[in-house]
Amino acid sequence: MADHAPRPPAQPEARAPLSEAEEAAGRILFAAECRFAAAAGERARIPPGAAPEIAFAGRSNVGKSSLLNALTGRHALARVSVTPGRTRELIFFDLGGRLMLVDMPGYGYAKAPKTLAREWQGLMLAYLRGRPNLRRVLLLLDARLAPKPADEAVMAILDGAAVTFQLVLTKADALGQAPLAARIEALTRVARAHTAAHPDVLATSSRTGTGIAALRAELAPLAA
Ligand code: GDP
Repeated sequence: MADHAPRPPAQPEARAPLSEAEEAAGRILFAAECRFAAAAGERARIPPGAAPEIAFAGRSNVGKSSLLNALTGRHALARVSVTPGRTRELIFFDLGGRLMLVDMPGYGYAKAPKTLAREWQGLMLAYLRGRPNLRRVLLLLDARLAPKPADEAVMAILDGAAVTFQLVLTKADALGQAPLAARIEALTRVARAHTAAHPDVLATSSRTGTGIAALRAELAPLAA
């Protein structure tokens, strides 16, 4: 990515527009074939980390499968992750040998955050720690909702593991422009309160395609 002068905080609308080169880099990366590579429900099955990796995390129903499918331009790429028995696994997708996309189990569905964090923590901590090829976790948040305690718990886990994470809003189409801008601003403040958080909050919609090119472009410089 091009060098940017430090941006003033809490002004996400001041984000520099994508250059053609940045957009093209993202488009080319995600035009590559994306294939299922591995599924790991326990520590021993986590594949060795070779290519740079991006992990996708979020509450169940946040729109993670839809976003993975929109990014890769496939219709059923992430479907495997929601088949029974697969919901507790890390699913690894190889994007053209340049980037591994990791679908992390959804968390927080109808459960108390403490239980969740405990369930999530075992395998996730084993994965998150000592994974030098893990470039970033994308923490997906439903644009319509303020972060839930489970989201906060996951952010704390990522801070603790010192894994850079970036907040990515899903379902941006469900909000008008002003509420969306307000949500981005509020979450930019949330990001600033977390040591491991990337300062930029991205808004996406799998339904309309909003923000998909920008997210691809954001990830391209992290690929091999
Ligand atoms: P996952 O459980 O996080 O993998 O979520 P899914 O991708 O299965 O989506 C959960 C629900 O959110 C489904 O009903 C989707 O139709 C809906 N959804 C996903 N993406 C979008 C979006 O961009 N906009 C809107 N309005 N709804 C979405």
